[in-house]
Amino acid sequence: MITLSIDGRELKAEKGQTILQVASENGIDIPTLCYHEALEPYGACRLCVVEIFKGGRSRVVASCLYPVEEGLEVKTSSPRVLDNRKMILELLLARCCKNKVIQELAAQMGIEQPSFKPEYLEDNDCILCGLCVRACEQVVGVSAISLVNRGITKEVAPPFFEAATACIGCGSCYYVCPTGAIKMEDKGDTRIIHNWKVEFKLKKCKVCGNYWAPEKQLDYIRDKLHLPEEFFDVCPDCK
Ligand code: SF4
Repeated sequence: MITLSIDGRELKAEKGQTILQVASENGIDIPTLCYHEALEPYGACRLCVVEIFKGGRSRVVASCLYPVEEGLEVKTSSPRVLDNRKMILELLLARCCKNKVIQELAAQMGIEQPSFKPEYLEDNDCILCGLCVRACEQVVGVSAISLVNRGITKEVAPPFFEAATACIGCGSCYYVCPTGAIKMEDKGDTRIIHNWKVEFKLKKCKVCGNYWAPEKQLDYIRDKLHLPEEFFDVCPDCK
């Protein structure tokens, strides 16, 4: 076991855990946008910065990536941390000036309006955190989308910006997106994911008649798990 302190509280942690994991287990709130416990940490949004103190020196690190160490002292809301977090939110707000999630996070830090000139503001919902890409790759195992280009032209897209032919319509990318940047809707017997330019026929339950999941997603699961053909004829509610 490792002993460290977070915000003055002495805590025990397992070797290999990150500061964010230990803080979260102990009810200490650190804001994040790009972190999801089911996925590898990525350190993209930097909102989870904390200040660490060791050997008489201090520095600011991303808590989702930094592993705990014996005797480490961590502060989650020191003046230095708050300055960093405020600047990160200023930048996110400049990119996503109309996004409600970002506006609310910024307001919590006392930022009501972006401090950048109007010509530098963008009406984007995507913060390029890569959660959707990682979910598709690491959880679904499909890799239908990826982060493409660099610098100011970086974005999430299917290969060659065409329809995401590998997509199975599972919606994992939509569910993990922290800012609502992915637009998905189920209309009658069809699921549409606008960002990836794809549509899927939904499977109808033989018992209740509800359309409940994309046929392509069910085929994918059935093939992977070698399930019988009729396995998904009935929805989970009616099973
Ligand atoms: S809906 Fe498509 S792009 Fe999104 S996670 Fe599922 S397979 Fe990947």
